[in-house]
Amino acid sequence: MTAMVKAEGVHKSFGAAHILKGIDLEVAPREVFCLIGPSGSGKSTFLRCINHLEQINAGRLYVDGQLVGYRQKGDKLYELKDSEVALKRRDIGMVFQRFNLFPHMTAIENVMEAPVQVKGETKAVARARAERLLDRVGLGDKAKNYPSQLSGGQQQRVAIARALAMEPKLMLFDEPTSALDPELVGDVLDVMRGLAEDGMTMIVVTHEMGFAREVGDALVFMDDGVVVESGHPRDVLTNPQHDRTKSFLSKVL
Ligand code: ADP
Ligand code: MG
Repeated sequence: MTAMVKAEGVHKSFGAAHILKGIDLEVAPREVFCLIGPSGSGKSTFLRCINHLEQINAGRLYVDGQLVGYRQKGDKLYELKDSEVALKRRDIGMVFQRFNLFPHMTAIENVMEAPVQVKGETKAVARARAERLLDRVGLGDKAKNYPSQLSGGQQQRVAIARALAMEPKLMLFDEPTSALDPELVGDVLDVMRGLAEDGMTMIVVTHEMGFAREVGDALVFMDDGVVVESGHPRDVLTNPQHDRTKSFLSKVL
């Protein structure tokens, strides 16, 4: 079975700052893959590399069996053109800590935007799907609200619906609940749990250890640009092997 994401010795630097120092990991299709680690350890950078927002400097990164950012011919690599990158990015949904909705569009217009603008779908088709998706995230009655008329948790659920509207094969979540008031976190996690149950492949950067334990299939602890420890979430969380993992978990659990 082809891995949905495969990283082999992935390195990323910004100028002299070496951020990812040889990441190896594999995410299977339908897996909920949780990524934890201290601030600055390179989690967001890694997600951004998967989503073609950053180009890696060394190693190999594959999504669904295809190299990210390059095409291989023989043993030579050629950088993809912007138009080719744009096509590949359609298959990946990303949800950020800050919801980044278009403020001048209603919830349903936000969800319809990419299928209409990027895929050239008709508004009727996009609207029908957007209605279904808003229902699915529990916001069927908020379709006509503008982002400013929604709570942070509701905005984040619109952002998830918006990402799903492109029918991605992989969803990346970068601390999707970190900016939310505590009482709003549960609704967002419930939506993510539903997606997991439906078989979506998800990489989730999170500090929600309860979610990682209950929903995660795999957990990686990253520190200073390397994978320190990985395994089943229950094992890593209850019986961490490395001092760095133990020290991190003692602060967040
Ligand atoms: P995390 O998500 O684990 O908190 P990040 O991937 O956001 O970590 O950042 C890791 C390191 O990379 C940080 O020191 C950050 O300052 C640096 N970094 C991230 N993006 C850039 C960039 N575009 N230019 C320079 N440094 C960056
Ligand atoms: Mg981050």
